[in-house]
Amino acid sequence: MNLILLGPPGAGKGTQAKRLEGKHGIAQISTGDMLRAEVASGSEIGRQAKSIMESGALVPDALITEMLGKRIEAPDCANGFILDGFPRTLAQAKALDRMLAGKGRGLDRVIELKVDDAALVARIAGRFTCANCGAGYHDSFKRPKVEGVCDECGGTEFSRRADDRAETVTARLEAYHRQTAPLLPYYEAEGRLVSVDGMAGMDEVTRQIEAALAR
Ligand code: AMP
Repeated sequence: MNLILLGPPGAGKGTQAKRLEGKHGIAQISTGDMLRAEVASGSEIGRQAKSIMESGALVPDALITEMLGKRIEAPDCANGFILDGFPRTLAQAKALDRMLAGKGRGLDRVIELKVDDAALVARIAGRFTCANCGAGYHDSFKRPKVEGVCDECGGTEFSRRADDRAETVTARLEAYHRQTAPLLPYYEAEGRLVSVDGMAGMDEVTRQIEAALAR
């Protein structure tokens, strides 16, 4: 099963993608995580991407498409994958269609998480993760049970994304509306789009996604 999760930054794509990965045995592919790993390693790709990511803009289509093309060849994608953060432009969507057609594969569903912009800024600006295991938290909505200690691994170091500052979030939302939202009619016209209410609680969103997949 090959899926795309589409929605603005902070819509909950990462959370839902991890749940789908666990339940269906398909690989979560976050191009944002892949780029952050490149930046952390100081690679050539990381050097090219760093300042673009910090500004809230999108990295060039050619760079990200090549990276994604290699990633979906990995053995853990044999059963399928959930794309979280790709495609983000029409050019990327078309490149993905070509890559999949070349392998005799296709997309099963494109799931849109619908969320209001006003809620997104509050969601994103408060989020942080465990530096050891990556578990996600939020200043207002999900603090660790014991202050300063990760619920999952007991880690005591936490980090915040450089691009989660309020100024950058606005640029990221603009990029979403200008460059990524046009993908919605593209996938709708092909009959592959389903929309779920991303404003609902996490478990309700998961339920709606599973219901859409069962249809
Ligand atoms: P994310 O973690 O998905 O919010 O991505 C963080 C940042 O990485 C974005 O703001 C972009 O700068 C870059 N990025 C991630 N995925 C893509 C993509 N598919 N196309 C272009 N830029 C991307």
